[in-house]
Parts: sequence; structure tokens; C-alpha cells
Amino acid sequence: MAADDDPHSSEDEQVEETEKETVENKDESVTFKDLGIVDVLCEACEELKWKQPSKIQKEAIPVALQGKDIIGLAETGSGKTGAFALPILQALLENPQRYFALILTPTRELAFQISEQFEALGASIGVKCAVIVGGMDMVAQALVLAKKPHIIIATPGRLVDHLENTKGFNLKALKYLVMDEADRILNMDFEVEVDKILRVIPRERRTYLFSATMTKKVQKLQRASLQDPVKVEVSTKYQTVDKLQQYYVFIPVKYKDVYLVHIINELAGNSIIVFVATCANALRCALLLRNLGLAAVPLHGQMSQNKRLAALNKFKNKSRSILICTDVASRGLDIPHVDVVMNLDIPLHSKDYIHRVGRTARAGRSGKAITFVSQYDVELYQRIEQLIGKQLPLYACDENEVMVLQERVSEAQRLTNIEMKELNDKKSIKGKKRSAGSDDDDTEEAIGVRRRIKGKPNKHAAKRKRK
Ligand code: AMP
Repeated sequence: MAADDDPHSSEDEQVEETEKETVENKDESVTFKDLGIVDVLCEACEELKWKQPSKIQKEAIPVALQGKDIIGLAETGSGKTGAFALPILQALLENPQRYFALILTPTRELAFQISEQFEALGASIGVKCAVIVGGMDMVAQALVLAKKPHIIIATPGRLVDHLENTKGFNLKALKYLVMDEADRILNMDFEVEVDKILRVIPRERRTYLFSATMTKKVQKLQRASLQDPVKVEVSTKYQTVDKLQQYYVFIPVKYKDVYLVHIINELAGNSIIVFVATCANALRCALLLRNLGLAAVPLHGQMSQNKRLAALNKFKNKSRSILICTDVASRGLDIPHVDVVMNLDIPLHSKDYIHRVGRTARAGRSGKAITFVSQYDVELYQRIEQLIGKQLPLYACDENEVMVLQERVSEAQRLTNIEMKELNDKKSIKGKKRSAGSDDDDTEEAIGVRRRIKGKPNKHAAKRKRK
């Protein structure tokens, strides 16, 4: 099962939080210097235009600088990376050492994002980081590790692979371990890998465990890996920000595509993320929109890492305005310019709704979220409304205007189905040739398919002409 589709196990339900120790710092004018951060790192924050510490930074940094373990309940977007990166960099400055800190994170995209922040904050102190994630060349990674970076940012599976198979690589001198998005690491069944890592790193270390929610599994991990931790918390859980306008559209499932195209046309000029339930639907929708001349790119868990990064970069640098993705992108991705999030397929877990719509209305900007509700989704939708504690307004669409598009959309669907079939045929041939293949961004390949399909009628037309 793809990690991004992985349902939460019942054991993982949220549990009552007890013994909450919240370090409050209500002084709005507090600076990084006041928190105990040294000048060179304060300057780095200034360079990044971080004028003031965020709430989680205000709470976590002083505790970290006292040398304590931390359990942090905070989500991406709260500034939590800075909350653990600044104390780690400060400790590194005091005791420069290779293989100083390990950051474990659930997804490859998050790993790169965290590395970017470490490098930006640590640029003037010459920090060396290595990102060790799946889907990339093991040998090239082994060479990077051989250069002995200060900070390793890794997904658990690939790190274990290196610990077991890369000669000369070990983490016996590690000083800091961060488990970022611990709830998600555990939901993705990385428990065995995390256990293996805990067994080969020193007990004498500092550990920071960050999680969006406190689940039973996270509590177990906390007990196994932290010493007398201080709990810090920012209460952004299950809230959507004020500047986010949320709507739903209620339509029969067969009209989803035509409504999608209509709304995207209406919102032309905006950067849009469309969430779907499966990898295949991400590819299908991207092809469909491209067949209608819209600049869409897919992002899903079956693409190779390079293709995922390339897709993300195309969207980030605005050369594509529409990103079609599975929940692989619902948490953590920090792309400030996203104007609209559309849930073409309703999320199965209500909490994923919060993560998805949290991709827009970031950093004080406004944003829109539009959720498609079909005849089959009513119950799931009601659960979302219950979670966010409000009823959403209907997104106004003129049905006549929408239906004008039906014919063009049907033709694009027909073309897309042929492309999908050809791609699947190609893949099964490829699959026979090389067993462990990846899906990659098939839209590029489909362009070739499309040219051939489109070429066919023209050929007939040419024949007819000749006759
Ligand atoms: P994170 O939650 O760590 O992923 O951070 C989310 C975003 O907030 C990133 O783009 C950070 O660069 C930014 N950020 C982190 N700390 C601050 C701060 N103190 N002031 C302004 N922006 C920040």
C-alpha cells in the first residue's frame, strides 16, 4: 500500500493528553537574542527576514538551550524547523563535530525542505548537510556520507540501508536526534527502522520529537527515546486560518471533471493544488487538463524522487500553475504562493482536510479551498464540517456555463483514456524488462502518445483530401 494512502490504525487514535507542560512566553517583543541565540545565528535569522521568533520557537528554544529533551506538538508551518535547527546549530558552533545531528522525517520533500533551512541558517558558519532519502542513487549518497556532513536529514528506510550496507558509516558519535512529524513516521510503518536507528546511536544524546498529534504510538516512542522531556505546544491543531475561504461544491460524481475544468478556468491566473485520492487519478487528471491546454503537473508517491522534485520545482517556480497530487503533498510542503486548494477527491481522514487546505493561506496571505462532494461523499464531508466546527458555504457555479464545457471535456477524457492505456501497456512491457521500475512523470511520455493519437485523424484527413 502506498504510504500516502495508508489509513491510520485504530491504535493510533488520538489519546488524552496528560501532564501537559507548556512553556508560555506571551511577550510579543521577544527577540531571538532574548531567547539566548548567539549573534551570528540572529544575523542569519535577519537575513531570512525572520523578524521575531514564532510561538513554537519562543517556547522550544530556551528549553533546548538548557540541554533538555523536547516533545513538541506543532505542525509544519509553525516554524518548528527553526525551533530545533537553531539550538542544534548553536551547539554545533560550541562543539564542532562531524555527524553531529540526525533529523528523521517521513517524506523526501520534507527532508529537502529541512535541509534548505539548515543551510540557510548555517550558511555563515559553514554547516555541511546531507539529505539521505529513498529513490536516489545509493552510491552517490555513500560518497556524500563519506565527506562526513555535520547534519544528516533522512527518511528512516534509506538511512537504515546505509547504516547496514555503507562501509565506514556509523552514527556512534551522534549528539542530537530529531524525529520530525513523528506521528506520520509511525503511520507510514517506519517503526522497525526507527527502532534499528535508536539501537545504533548513543544513549547520551539530546532528542527532540515533533509531532502534529499525540497518538499512542508517539507516546510509546517518546517513552523509548526521550529522557525527562519538556512538552512544548502550539495550539494550531484542527484549526484553519481566518484568511482561508472554504467552500464545497455538491455534484454527481460523473460531473467532477467538467466542474474541475470550469472552476480552474474561472480561477485562471492562480496557483492551484488539486488533491486526488490515488496516484493513477493524479496522472489522469494532469493528462486531462493538459489535453485541454492547462499547465498541470502531477506529484504522487509512485514517481521517482527526481521526477517528484522536478514536478514540485515547476510548480514552485510558476512554470506550471496547477499541481495535481495525492496526500504525499498534503503535509508540510511550504509553497507560499498557493492561492487555491481543490479537493477533487474528498480526503478519507478528516485530519487530512486540515493538512491539505493548509497548503494555502500561508504566511498571512489569503487563500481559497474548494471541496468536491459527490453523492458518495456526504458522510465524509459531514465529518470534516464537524472537525472544523463550521458549515461551509456552497461555491457558486452557473450550471449552464459549466455544461457548455461538457463536449470538450468528454473529448479530452476520451484522449486521456487512450493515453493512460498506452502508458500502462508500455509500462507492462518495461516492467518485464526491468522488474523494479518507477512510474515517473508519465505526462511527458504521454505528450509523445498524444502527438501520435492526434496525428492519426490528421493522417486520415490528409488521405480524404487526396481522394
Ligand atoms: P516550518 O514550520 O519550520 O516548516 O516553517 C514554515 C515557514 O515559516 C518556513 O518558510 C520558514 O522559513 C518560516 N519561518 C520559520 N520561522 C520563522 C520566523 N520566526 N519568522 C518568519 N518566518 C519564519
